[in-house]
Amino acid sequence: MEVQDPRFLCDDHCGRLARWLRFVGFDCRHDQSATDATVLMIAGNEDRIILTRDHHLAAMVLARQAILLQSSDPVGQLREVIDSLSLVIDQARVLTRCTMCNSPITPVAATDIWDRIPPYVQKTRTEFKTCSVCGRVYWEGTHLTRMVERLRGIGLPV
Ligand SMILES: [Zn+2]
Repeated sequence: MEVQDPRFLCDDHCGRLARWLRFVGFDCRHDQSATDATVLMIAGNEDRIILTRDHHLAAMVLARQAILLQSSDPVGQLREVIDSLSLVIDQARVLTRCTMCNSPITPVAATDIWDRIPPYVQKTRTEFKTCSVCGRVYWEGTHLTRMVERLRGIGLPV
């Protein structure tokens, strides 16, 4: 199947995949305590593709509205999602969405988030982004570099 700018919904067992999808810019909901019934309802209401490793859950929806994941590794799962929808990673969208809560993140002045970043970051970084919903602050650093390296390791152009 091929879908333009798809939106996703991870079931409660693939929350780590949600963070990776958001990292590369895709809209992905994940409600940790959601039951199968809730997942089905939200996916239907918001036109989201369900990502799950649960055969029963996948069987309850039309094939084009769910992807049954094989891998237990979130990066392997990301590869499966990208392959099954023939998605293209847009580098301009990497790190535009909060990996924790799925909201858009935007550049912020260092002075506005100074008290929320560790001292070593204050000394070495000047550019920051923040999530206006949960308040998480993002900056270029080793964690980010490691994530990009893992994506390149599975052949994704980030
Ligand atoms: Zn957030």
